[in-house]
Amino acid sequence: MQTRIEVGILGATGMVGQHFIKFLQGNPWFDLKWLGASDRSAGKKYKDAMTWHLAGGTPDSVAGLTVDECKPGNAPRLVFSAMDAGVATEIERAFAQAGHVVVSNSRNHRMEQDVPLLVPEINPDHLKLVPGQQRARGWKGQIVTNPNCSTIGLVMALGPLKQFGITKVIVTTMQAISGAGYPGVPSMDIMGNVIPFIGGEEEKMEMETQKILGDFAGDRIAPLAAKVSAHCNRVAVVDGHTETVSVEFSSKPSEPDLRQALESFRGLPQERNLPSAPPRPVIYMDAANRPQPRKDAERERGMAAFVGRLRVCHALDYKFVVLSHNTIRGAAGAAVLNAELMHSEGMLDS
Ligand code: NAP
Repeated sequence: MQTRIEVGILGATGMVGQHFIKFLQGNPWFDLKWLGASDRSAGKKYKDAMTWHLAGGTPDSVAGLTVDECKPGNAPRLVFSAMDAGVATEIERAFAQAGHVVVSNSRNHRMEQDVPLLVPEINPDHLKLVPGQQRARGWKGQIVTNPNCSTIGLVMALGPLKQFGITKVIVTTMQAISGAGYPGVPSMDIMGNVIPFIGGEEEKMEMETQKILGDFAGDRIAPLAAKVSAHCNRVAVVDGHTETVSVEFSSKPSEPDLRQALESFRGLPQERNLPSAPPRPVIYMDAANRPQPRKDAERERGMAAFVGRLRVCHALDYKFVVLSHNTIRGAAGAAVLNAELMHSEGMLDS
């Protein structure tokens, strides 16, 4: 039996940190051994350092671990980062400099030219940025990131369609409240309401989509030359971001071409049978009223994108709806799958 790789979490006491802990339970490759947080939590037992917000209670395997400060040295070589964005830039860099592999969910380094913004099914070749990152920065370690929770569903649906020449995308999101962390949006604001603004989200969605769907060009990614316009809204849903999408293509594919591309899509994680990979990354749903967050977001362990309602768009060419789980495929699950791909590429060998 393969020895499991010891891993740690930077920002383990936060909302996303808890999702990492939950998602890593039972992972056959990674063994969670170290938890890091701020000096407010360091030195305490994990169960005393945070309030557990997820279903099922604090796992026994971490409840008694002592939380450490987020300083390189004591942590395992592979660390997942769920740190507050206000502090992630410097701390993640310090870990990479000291030889750690930092697989980050924070937004801080996503758009840096030499940092992969990775979705294993869509752009695994962007990992080729890592040697240049290490050379240019003099790092023994590395930083690899995953996208924002609203970008992930969009790119998982657009990735299989890139072959048809995407020229314009208009996306409108209906984003779950769990995407705002804890305590998130006040209940008086969100109950029976829609909030048509999420700070910075539209810009992130537009730029991240172009980078993820772009092409590896030596020392950087040449972004996809498509216009992307995002409208981001917070709605009274607990988990699962729903997005309605219109797309224009240069090659004018037929509707069956698009449907076939979505349904047959598989990536490297499926080919290599990575532990957290959903068997089908994109699941097309025929029912006219699906996907729905309450019924579908948790399926496939929250790791697939659910697409439905593909039809002609009279403004662009085609339109559809996509749903993905924002805290699993949009956060912890995405980073764990990134690390599994990196392991399968030999990038975690010391
Ligand atoms: P959070 O609940 O506020 O947790 C922040 C974590 O960072 C805590 O563990 C906190 O430790 C730690 N931290 C704060 N200051 C620190 C310092 N100076 N040194 C070391 N650790 C420090 O935040 P979150 O909602 O989990 O989000 C974490 C990151 O993921 C953010 O970058 C966010 O943008 C991103 N993100 C969040 C979501 C989501 O659904 N919430 C989705 C996608 C991405 P203490 O408990 O000790 O303060």
